Amino acid sequence: MSRPLKGNSVRITVTGVVQGVGFRPFVARLARHHHISGTVANTSSGVIIHAQGPAHRIAAFVTGLRKTPPRARVTGISSVPVSSSPRIRGFSIVASTRRTVTAVDLPADSALCPACRRELNDPSDRRYRYPFINCTDCGPRYTITRTLPYDRPQTTMRSFHMCSVCQAEYDDPSNRRFHAQPNACPACGPTVFFERLAPKAAAPLSGDSAMRAAAGRIARGSLVAIKSIGGYHLSCDAENRSAIATLRRRKSRPRKPFAVMMADLRQIGRICHVSPLEHRLLTSPQAPIVLLRKRLDAGRILPTIEQLAPGNAYLGVMLPYTPLHEVLFRTGPFNCLVMTSGNRQDEPICHDEVSARERLTGIADCLLWHDRPIHNRCDDSIVQVVEGVGAQFIRRSRGSVPEPVVLPSQSRAGPALGVGAELKNTFCLTRGAHSYPSAYIGDLDNDESLRFFRESHGRFTRFLQVKPRVVAHDLHPDYLSTAFARRYRASGARTIAVQHHHAHIASVCAEHGLTRPVIGFAFDGTGFGIDGAVWGGECFTGVPGRFERRAHLEYFALPGGDQATREIWRIGISLLRHANQELRVLRLPRAYAVNAVSAMIDQRINSPLCSSAGRLFDGVAALLGLMRETTFEAEAAMALERLALMLPIDSRPKIGYNFPCTPDERGGPSVMRLAPLIRDIVADIRGNVPHAVIAWRFHRTLAEMIVRVASDMRKTRGLKTVALSGGVFQNRLLLSLAVRLLKARGFTVAVNTQVPPNDGCISLGQAWTALQR
Ligand code: ZN
Ligand code: ZN
Ligand code: FE
Repeated sequence: MSRPLKGNSVRITVTGVVQGVGFRPFVARLARHHHISGTVANTSSGVIIHAQGPAHRIAAFVTGLRKTPPRARVTGISSVPVSSSPRIRGFSIVASTRRTVTAVDLPADSALCPACRRELNDPSDRRYRYPFINCTDCGPRYTITRTLPYDRPQTTMRSFHMCSVCQAEYDDPSNRRFHAQPNACPACGPTVFFERLAPKAAAPLSGDSAMRAAAGRIARGSLVAIKSIGGYHLSCDAENRSAIATLRRRKSRPRKPFAVMMADLRQIGRICHVSPLEHRLLTSPQAPIVLLRKRLDAGRILPTIEQLAPGNAYLGVMLPYTPLHEVLFRTGPFNCLVMTSGNRQDEPICHDEVSARERLTGIADCLLWHDRPIHNRCDDSIVQVVEGVGAQFIRRSRGSVPEPVVLPSQSRAGPALGVGAELKNTFCLTRGAHSYPSAYIGDLDNDESLRFFRESHGRFTRFLQVKPRVVAHDLHPDYLSTAFARRYRASGARTIAVQHHHAHIASVCAEHGLTRPVIGFAFDGTGFGIDGAVWGGECFTGVPGRFERRAHLEYFALPGGDQATREIWRIGISLLRHANQELRVLRLPRAYAVNAVSAMIDQRINSPLCSSAGRLFDGVAALLGLMRETTFEAEAAMALERLALMLPIDSRPKIGYNFPCTPDERGGPSVMRLAPLIRDIVADIRGNVPHAVIAWRFHRTLAEMIVRVASDMRKTRGLKTVALSGGVFQNRLLLSLAVRLLKARGFTVAVNTQVPPNDGCISLGQAWTALQR
């Protein structure tokens, strides 16, 4: 070994996403490769390396640090010489002390890596077809962790004792499985089992016979519940019409799209358009569901595609991301499987065998499970790529939780907790300048979801070692989350109410570091407004904690309240009444209580007022006869978007409908008037203008209206940054149009990308607002 020379002892600090991503083992391997001695440790200011060796070797070592493991992202490397330091022999990883580790050190789950995939499919490998193969670059992390630090005894792998071969890999710094906590093999690791739910079979099959039995049952049209990394999926052959129909019936899910898992990229490319960015997302370690645009001729290749995502321009697709999935595809004759969350309607995803047997009997025919417990459930993440925006989360869970979203600054008011929205709930904790959005919890309207919320909240506060000093909740007094937040007062925390749409815009400010006033447009389904009305088409200016409402969609009635969000023909009537148009345009059969609903509107009986852009989409879809009732949220809006997209590019109108925005007489916010828009649409329907043209112009109208209102704000208030948020902006056509038109007018545009634009972003917006007050 070369003797270290004077001045050749350096202290290197590496910052970025470098903790809990296999970075220290990587550093140790690299150091040994370059014959560097020293130590590496995780600290609160990053990874600290003490390196000793000849200067040229240290230089090569530092250069090598940039070629990081797949999950790591180095943002800074600085090194300072250490003058007098004792000579260190060899290179070692300094164990983390419990005091210094936090969720920062707890990595997210990672999809099967290429090296493990090769071994998995190599008949001469000792892990050939072993469904739990993993290494430092891949495998479960967050979902198996019970407590920190992230070490094997603290994970659900603690009950599996490594065999001598696995242990040797684990101890060998030059091995890919050095310190890979879930390391396992067929001799010592978890086992997969297969059982029938009804009629019950005597004993479950295990190992490879379990995999073959499951593949065989799927091929014959059965519904199989499959245990994955973060919970159970309900799966069936996505090319089998009757299996899909059975799944829809048993899940009471008549039309809501199902995500599919496809064997490989080539198969995906045959039915969907895949851009280079979408390709990267599909094959990333996060391996999310990517919403891909269906090819026009997709039905020839996959005849069931309309049954999988009816009336939708997109299909949610992912690649096999666990070794178990990979083995399944290698075993069965299928190329495409439905993979939908294994739960009963509105409940959180099942994650253990007891609840799967109890809650999925009657839905699934069989269970493919394994004995590696899931400690933290985590649904699949969903992303989409939007022109002019890039990748955007629709749901942020597996593969990204518990990674932080970096805040613009640290606040002395923290740590803060945002308890989130009522629907698509997540909560969000802050620690220093980092925020930690939780996994997707779901709709907080049932006991199971509330239990999931409480349990996750307890674990997150422990992982992060934070005790919130300020807790933000929705303005709505009756939400379960509001009650949960209030209970925090007993522990001395402050609580604050944050209006739903304020939280939407604040979330954009938080993730983009916007600390100066913005023009914010929050377009969504519904949220409780400050004036007691139902909001959802709002324009604000200001900074988080101090937003002023400057404009909103004109209020219209929702006859029947919540009923109107499902029976959207009621909204059609409301819009027509509002614009003084004949109701015949709707062509409603006699059975519909048209007169009664009109009377409700006129007499203001059970007809709350709303300014919701989401409900406007519903109403326009009803006018165009796309549907009269919806079976899930945003169904009508998705159908309207698809209709517009059917229009060939060269026949898309370059101008929208008339949509004036007029000042309020009493000096309140301006009002975006609906009547002219509705009158124009009705005239086009009467004039037999193709409905695709009307749908296109409607999208264009909203985008133009956003630009017009933003231009007013720029003129009167000198603002030029626009923030867009809310579930309506999941509409890719609307979002890309709005972004393009705004940029063309010189605006800076920010939209949610690290958290979803839907209510999944509310908790971050609440927490950030709480830190600003
Ligand atoms: Zn691997
Ligand atoms: Zn082993
Ligand atoms: Fe919302």
